[in-house]
Amino acid sequence: MQFEEKEITVREIKSNSVISKTNLPTGDYCVNPYTGCIHACKYCYASFMNRFSGHNEPWGSYLDVKTWPCILNPKKYDGKELIIGSVTDPYNPFEEKFERTKRLLLELRGTNAKITIITKSDLVARDLDIIKNFPNICVAFSINTLDENFKNDMDSAVSIERRLRAMKTFYENKIRTACFISPIFPQITNVQAIMDTVIHQCNFIWLENLNLRGEYKAKILKYIAERYPELVPLYDEIYRKNDNQYWVELAAELQNFCKDRGLIYVVDNGKLVRPFNEPPVVVNFFYHSKIKQSAKRRKD
Ligand code: SF4
Repeated sequence: MQFEEKEITVREIKSNSVISKTNLPTGDYCVNPYTGCIHACKYCYASFMNRFSGHNEPWGSYLDVKTWPCILNPKKYDGKELIIGSVTDPYNPFEEKFERTKRLLLELRGTNAKITIITKSDLVARDLDIIKNFPNICVAFSINTLDENFKNDMDSAVSIERRLRAMKTFYENKIRTACFISPIFPQITNVQAIMDTVIHQCNFIWLENLNLRGEYKAKILKYIAERYPELVPLYDEIYRKNDNQYWVELAAELQNFCKDRGLIYVVDNGKLVRPFNEPPVVVNFFYHSKIKQSAKRRKD
């Protein structure tokens, strides 16, 4: 199942600022040089942006290219955590032409901001020489499968092979990289196989489970029914009956797997940074409060 060919509406818009304060626990500021994202991932949580950006078109079919006044006093971001690409892909294919993310990095050059770039594209390698100059930066590649067919069903971004190659290039250039295994699809995402693939080319492995809410819940469940009918009972348990047992068991398995591989495994703690050549730190961002409650209920 592939996405249908569709037209993309691209327009340039003026924005007062490209950097916004955030309440997210993972950063102080979100930075999104674009509104919308043409990678059109079927599970995209950012699709709620339609409500705020005044777009009626389907998520994935439009892209607003932001222009902003030059960032005054970029040094004020020293020591602050900036997430580039929280609700868009900063290296979507139109970045090649508009270079908004490149401009952003050039404006922030010379700061000591703690920057995380999240992308599904190898276009980020174009800016390697700029990125190299930031003392505190991490390039995170989202990879939730090694199966290119499943990837093609889910998103229009570049192949997994290209993402892995780009990750390696950054790592070999001594730039910290993360493999963001997100979202983990129950019984489809082979987390251990992905970890084994990236273990020697990243500094962090972040794990996040598939969360279904909003409009895309029905879309994903329909896809599972069509392509993986044998998984329907499991998905019903998790997403219709809110049973977290699958995640409890997967978290335990992954913890053991990390132990076997000599990897540090932490929960909800993205702050642990180790010397560059140490094996990656695995961070579990599952819904632990819920999982713990569920486990406790079962024990009782
Ligand atoms: S790349 Fe990220 S922002 Fe873009 S559609 Fe996919 S999940 Fe959403």
